[in-house]
Amino acid sequence: MFEKILIANRGEIALRVQRACRELGIKTVVVHSEADREAKYVKLADESVCIGPAPSAQSYLNVPAIISAAEVTDAQAIHPGYGFLSENADFAERVESSGFVFIGPRADTIRLMGDKVSAKDAMKAAGVPCVPGSDGALPDDPKEITKIARTVGYPVIIKASGGGGGRGMRVVHTEAALLNAVTMTKSEAQVAFGNPTVYMEKYLENPRHVEIQVLADQHGNAVYLGERDCSMQRRHQKVIEEAPAPLIPPRLIARIGDRCAEACRKIGYRGAGTFEFLYENGEFYFIEMNTRVQVEHPVTEAITGIDIVQEQIRVAAGEKLRFKQRDISFRGHAIECRINAEDPYTFVPFPGKISFYHPPGGPGIRVDSHIYQGYTVPPHYDSMVAKVIAYGDTREQAIRRMRIALSEMGVEGIKTNIPLHQELMQDARFVEGGTSIHYLEQKLADKGEVKK
Ligand code: ADP
Repeated sequence: MFEKILIANRGEIALRVQRACRELGIKTVVVHSEADREAKYVKLADESVCIGPAPSAQSYLNVPAIISAAEVTDAQAIHPGYGFLSENADFAERVESSGFVFIGPRADTIRLMGDKVSAKDAMKAAGVPCVPGSDGALPDDPKEITKIARTVGYPVIIKASGGGGGRGMRVVHTEAALLNAVTMTKSEAQVAFGNPTVYMEKYLENPRHVEIQVLADQHGNAVYLGERDCSMQRRHQKVIEEAPAPLIPPRLIARIGDRCAEACRKIGYRGAGTFEFLYENGEFYFIEMNTRVQVEHPVTEAITGIDIVQEQIRVAAGEKLRFKQRDISFRGHAIECRINAEDPYTFVPFPGKISFYHPPGGPGIRVDSHIYQGYTVPPHYDSMVAKVIAYGDTREQAIRRMRIALSEMGVEGIKTNIPLHQELMQDARFVEGGTSIHYLEQKLADKGEVKK
């Protein structure tokens, strides 16, 4: 096992990784920007290194500074968390060529999965069902493009192969709009991702976002840890996640889960990962893979009892997975609310000093957060300040516990989206379960109409 790990991230996930390390008896080095110098998790780490000024381009994305921090502190491995450099294949390569272990998949796997066309090809070859669409990248010939769209059937969605974060996509409803949409998406993709390659998919009108968590070691073993439903989204950003996904028969999950685990073995996957699917009319359609730990991993930990971050570290150190698929069971239900520093109605970020903080507690409640009374939320980064996870024997109990937790939680000095979560926990359709990825935006739009 490693003696010392460097955590190349910030905020709640830096604290989460640090806790996993401490439990495993591993020393931690936290790198931080000037803006995060005073953060409590920085003080809690065994060592800390300032790697640059507040803007992430000069700190959390500063590869040479992070590598030197690992060198001067004698860390053996680097945990990238999520976001920042976590899915950057060049970074993973630099880490390993500098003699450290990258806690995540091999660089070539990250590269394969980071390009959506090659990821889809690999998944098709591994027997994972994908959204119907073009066979790989779209050709240049307009006649060919039109032909493909007719075969796929309108509406279609044009997606950038190098896209991410919900950007680089365009929905097309009619043939008249097709070629222009392809040209625009291509030129935008070139500017945003340095890669003009686009592909086409059938646009699913009412899907849910359901994803499968996997874990794989370096000895050819892979398991799936069930599914998460992340359909409650705004601008392709997840707001609430839960496990299991309501109203989906467990046998369907087992079937797709087995395919994902098998795909991991086929591509030689290592570490934790997530296969993201759109789910419609009882069918799963692969859209992309995330080759890192995800924000919503705690709901899976709650229903499986498996510490995903500790397992990531164990397999990175070369250990064999400690369980087989038949050892994994799912118990109860867990829901996560992402608490953001933002206006709950306009969604405008609202950083600043937290003058009062009272976290919730009680049976089944977990709070993953780096904030405290007197902490200043910096304006430079993502606005998520806490994750509240409620666990219960049933979904009903998890919802009841979440309602209580949100009512107990006090954050003053900044605005948060707690009121939005409180409203959603009372929303009849959410309580029923199984809403689509468009539900929240539709609800917000309807509310806007009523106000006018
Ligand atoms: P990103 O990497 O930018 O997150 P994804 O491929 O994961 O892109 O897609 C993000 C979101 O876009 C999905 O969660 C879904 O809401 C929507 N989306 C993507 N592909 C389709 C599709 N074929 N049909 C309908 N919606 C889609």
